[in-house]
Amino acid sequence: MRFVYFFGNGFAEGNGSMKDILGGKGAGLAEMALAKIPVPHGFTISAEVCDYYYKNNKTYPPSLKEEVEYNLKRLETTTGKKFGDKQNPLLVSVRSGAKISMPGMMDTILNLGLNDETVIALAKSTNNERFALDSYRRFIQMFGDVALGIDKELFEDKIKEIKKKEKRKFDHEISIEGLRWLIDEYKKIYSAQNKSFPQEPYRQLWIAIDAVFNSWMNKRAIDYRRINKIKESDLLGTAVSVVSMVFGNMGDDSGTGVAFTRDPSTGEKRRFGEFLVNAQGEDVVAGIRTPYPLDYLKQISQEAYDELLKIFDILESHYKDMQDVEFTVERKKLYMLQTRSAKRTAKAAVKVAKDMVEEGLITKQEALSRVSTDQIDQLLHPYFDEKAKAQAKLIAKGLGASPGAACGKVVFSAQKAEEIGSKESVILVRHETSAEDVAGMAASSGILTAQGGRTSHAAVVARGMGKSAVVGCEDIVIDYNNLQFSTNGTVVKEFDTISIDGSTGEVFLGEIKTLIPTGLDKDLAQILQWADEVSKLYVRANADTPQDAKVALEFGAKGIGLCRTEHMFFAPDRINIVREMIVAKDTQSRQKALDKLLPMQKEDFKALFKTMQGLEVTIRLIDPPLHEFLPQTDDAIQEVAKSLNISVDELKSTVKSLHEFNPMLGHRGCRLTITYPEIAIMQTKAIILAALELKAEGIECFPEIMIPLVGIDEELKYLKNIIKQTVDDLMKQSNILLKYLVGTMIEIPRACAVADQIAKEADFFSFGTNDLTQMTFGFSRDDAGKFLFDYLAKGILKEDPFKTIDTQGVGALMKIAVEKGKNANKNLRLGICGEHGGDPESIEFVHSIGLDYVSCSPYRVPVARLACAQAAI
Ligand code: ADP
Ligand code: MG
Ligand code: MG
Repeated sequence: MRFVYFFGNGFAEGNGSMKDILGGKGAGLAEMALAKIPVPHGFTISAEVCDYYYKNNKTYPPSLKEEVEYNLKRLETTTGKKFGDKQNPLLVSVRSGAKISMPGMMDTILNLGLNDETVIALAKSTNNERFALDSYRRFIQMFGDVALGIDKELFEDKIKEIKKKEKRKFDHEISIEGLRWLIDEYKKIYSAQNKSFPQEPYRQLWIAIDAVFNSWMNKRAIDYRRINKIKESDLLGTAVSVVSMVFGNMGDDSGTGVAFTRDPSTGEKRRFGEFLVNAQGEDVVAGIRTPYPLDYLKQISQEAYDELLKIFDILESHYKDMQDVEFTVERKKLYMLQTRSAKRTAKAAVKVAKDMVEEGLITKQEALSRVSTDQIDQLLHPYFDEKAKAQAKLIAKGLGASPGAACGKVVFSAQKAEEIGSKESVILVRHETSAEDVAGMAASSGILTAQGGRTSHAAVVARGMGKSAVVGCEDIVIDYNNLQFSTNGTVVKEFDTISIDGSTGEVFLGEIKTLIPTGLDKDLAQILQWADEVSKLYVRANADTPQDAKVALEFGAKGIGLCRTEHMFFAPDRINIVREMIVAKDTQSRQKALDKLLPMQKEDFKALFKTMQGLEVTIRLIDPPLHEFLPQTDDAIQEVAKSLNISVDELKSTVKSLHEFNPMLGHRGCRLTITYPEIAIMQTKAIILAALELKAEGIECFPEIMIPLVGIDEELKYLKNIIKQTVDDLMKQSNILLKYLVGTMIEIPRACAVADQIAKEADFFSFGTNDLTQMTFGFSRDDAGKFLFDYLAKGILKEDPFKTIDTQGVGALMKIAVEKGKNANKNLRLGICGEHGGDPESIEFVHSIGLDYVSCSPYRVPVARLACAQAAI
């Protein structure tokens, strides 16, 4: 079996499709080599070795040693250098990389092969002593940190010390003597920890390879996989790439950079990147100095710059996706070190997907799978109210690195953020972030760093998570010891509230009112139009008011799937009339109250129909138990009794008589209108009169009357007859014909079992999955929070069934209802209006059982539209 794959100039044993075993990095290097893009030569040890390593008590396949050594020899031949040589030493980097990119999660070691002798050779052969020493001290530091677990702060402290002594601001200004001193001090750090720095290059190599494989199971990597829902079983592990070194720290004609083929914040087709002169490796990402924009490369070498742009085009047409690359320039010569499909903001994902279809790079279907429903959701996230923002106190400004508005309490450690982030909104404030902070970042609402550019760790991770981030905010001075930061005159303490704007980079004191976006931008509208073209399901909204309906329409809803009429009953001018109806002693006085309600409800429906312009509008008849409309406290009872002109005792006894031990299973839904058919009649009149009046004005309406909580076909039969009779009378009187439907919610398990009987009476079924879940599990919706948490934590349930449909139980009942319903009534229309109607996983399920539409809250409509398309492709 083969474990090692070589790559070099225009040649490679692996290729880009072998991410499973070469990791994203190794596969990218092989693919670039094949495409004749300049990469340093090297070889990749397969991720199968990682798998073997963990399955065999941290040992390697017996043939590995020989294979690695053989490939190292090949590397010596193609580079013309020798590992450990005292004239022309070969140096390598040892790099990690799994199939799925986990930026910064695992460890890389650079300049391996240096020791007290090869460093002298390197200085001589390059004629650059400073460079050789700088490379050596970096290697000792990285090797100590990554391979031997020595705290990197110990090394950093020494750098600070020498910079202070030499009065230098930056690492690359440290003198030759200073570097010598550092190397000595670094070695002392090793001895102080009873560790030794191995001089022998082969030993260095194997210790480094061990370290990379071990890093697969470090806390950072495990956290990252958990947060990003990456299943361990989907991955073999990490591969290890051993790559000959090219040097960005050789002087002012060298440097290192990262770049994106398009703007990762906006998706615009413009090159975007950052470049550091005379620097190596992680310097850009770690935010050690504030980097130059990509254009600066021109000043070092116009040729290298032009070549880089050409490579961008090759990579994009090759991978058919926006790329994120790492490169190094060694004495004006460009080398590519990594390419991968770029992390991007939700906005950029949408724009890039749409643009690439228009550029002919990808198909519409591919575009739809390039955007995730989570990203759509992010696009509908809050932004600051401009007026409130104008009045807020701006205290600092950094780089807007990940768009979106966030407010929260300041915390200064990832740990604190993890502790309290689930309970309240926090903003994590750090000098810079690193891989250890990822779990804390996930728990924060926003991230603010004092250092680093738009490609720094904080920026990249925040964009991936869709969190607002402001980075490189050099205005703020953080004091970790006293848990505070200050900006020209303002001191902000731990738990003080700040607001950050990840689009503009602004930082404000206090909380700023935030708004949620309305409408869709052009790019998103286009993507969602393509989504609608391939979807089998269509999307309606749950909307009670014309305002809700307007938002829903702007987001592309094709109708209303649920209008809850009782919400209209709670309006201040109506609640007393509703109460009058409830306390009525006889049908006559109840009718009097209903007569007052009728014109009000009619006007509501008219406004709603008018907004929806002939689209389907499903209106549910009264659903909640009546006691919900009555006052409960003594004070409130007194007040209401007065306004209803009845005695307190009388009202009290009504309230008492309406008390139910289990109201969710009590006198509600169709049970109410069976007791009081006059309520159903009034609501039907309001709906139909509204439609008829509008139709007379030339405005089309399509009402669908929905009866809740049906579990027995006779319930539906009884109410449907009353409704039909009422409608027929009204149509006769007005002499106008109206298209309308009468249907039912399916939310009681029994209704699923007898769906064939019910379907004979129904024009449509709308699954009320909130109640259906509650009754199928026997979990009270209002109390389940108390124990569901334990169920999830103990793995008894994998998913909250109120969020994602329980396909095995609730879903099985739905399937029965669909089959029986369709068999009995082939014109039966099928939809879902529970919370699950906006949940992508649930949408995939209802697509599979053949519903016609989903209905969800207006702000979920765009998410649902994409989910419907993704379910279909
Ligand atoms: P990560 O997965 O954290 O991006 P990499 O393996 O890509 O880690 O290494 C980090 C950085 O180190 C790279 O961006 C590159 O700048 C530098 N680097 C890695 N290998 C080499 C090499 N052979 N020559 C020069 N620089 C290298
Ligand atoms: Mg790294
Ligand atoms: Mg990298």
